[in-house]
Amino acid sequence: MVAAKTASTRWLVRIIPLILAGCAGLATYVVVKRVCLDYFLQTQQKNGVAAAFLTLYFVFLLCMLLSYFRVFLEIQHNPGVTPLGERAVVQRERDKERKRQGRKAESDLEAGERYEAGADNNPDSPGLERFYSKNVFVCSADGRPRWCSSCCTWKVDRAHHCSELDRCVKKMDHYCPWVGGVVGETSFKFFMQFTGYTALYCIVVIVATVICLKSKLDSGQGVDGLVIAALAISAFFGLFTFTMTATSIRYAIVNLTNVDYLKSKDMVHQLAIRVPRGTQGTPKYSVITYPLPKRSGPGHEEDPPRDQLATRTFAIVKTEMGENPWDLGPYRNWQSIMGNSPVDWLLPIKPSPCAVYENNESFYEMGPLYEQLRERFGLPELSSSEKGEVIEPKQHRHVNGTDSTRGS
Ligand SMILES: [Zn+2]
Repeated sequence: MVAAKTASTRWLVRIIPLILAGCAGLATYVVVKRVCLDYFLQTQQKNGVAAAFLTLYFVFLLCMLLSYFRVFLEIQHNPGVTPLGERAVVQRERDKERKRQGRKAESDLEAGERYEAGADNNPDSPGLERFYSKNVFVCSADGRPRWCSSCCTWKVDRAHHCSELDRCVKKMDHYCPWVGGVVGETSFKFFMQFTGYTALYCIVVIVATVICLKSKLDSGQGVDGLVIAALAISAFFGLFTFTMTATSIRYAIVNLTNVDYLKSKDMVHQLAIRVPRGTQGTPKYSVITYPLPKRSGPGHEEDPPRDQLATRTFAIVKTEMGENPWDLGPYRNWQSIMGNSPVDWLLPIKPSPCAVYENNESFYEMGPLYEQLRERFGLPELSSSEKGEVIEPKQHRHVNGTDSTRGS
């Protein structure tokens, strides 16, 4: 379990479910007892109306609760964080130890020394192999993967560092205290289902309470304070979750996360795309060869030269502003998150296909832009024998119960 960094956030995560339970409890009492049983059934003797509202109410309540538990548990137990690098593990243990001993915050000097912030310059840096065993990955200007200086590790494609958790989260969407933490690759589907069902549930409560209030007013009876309270609460949450659902559906259809979307307009992706071994750079692109060459010279022992046959060459290319390499088209974008059938879309059971995607080609399925980029930059095709080469990534240390391989 990965808890939030600040104590106030951790408290919020515990208190919010109680607040939500209180609201749902009040709404249940009002809709079932005051509106359906007392008013529709007893006063007006409209059995059909009472039965219809009770059925709708409990169906959406059940869907809302199931999806809430699913998203809450997923976020607590499988938030989709990437493993920490060795240096971050050591440093964080040291920080914890300091706290236990009650020492004040580190001095500026110590804080500044926290980590060597720069990327790991070791050519055999743990985890690199996971990138160059693919045919394409997101890289920085020098062709190495992006580096997270807080987690001391290479950032997999589409991961973003979440400051609340102080961890990199795969396909991070946003931090949401309402569902107990960070919404990302593993929980986005269930989050959408939860907000969608909550919006529908709120609509049922709003319609039932408004009909009841209106006919009571029309017949000159006094208004019921509890019914008004239930209406106000459901209107608030209804508006909130409806907006959230609409926004999330839009992101799902264009295959962007909330984080991506905020910078999508001027976002340029830099990709390392595999080309035949030994391809030379051109004015259009530079190249990088993995495994990275070992340093030689004074201070470094002479290592045996790399086995030429085990190397892989990558061209470093940039997309145009606003292009999205993972855009598969609206329907397949939707399926990559929600699942392949409408049953999957409705039930908060199966994980998103994108969260269990496992492929030697790339971390996430690439859209048509990938082939377009190869053409645009005139990248030579791999020979079929090179295409068939597979690198089995070594297993790395597992940190905090998170596996370094995908889909677990
Ligand atoms: Zn990070």
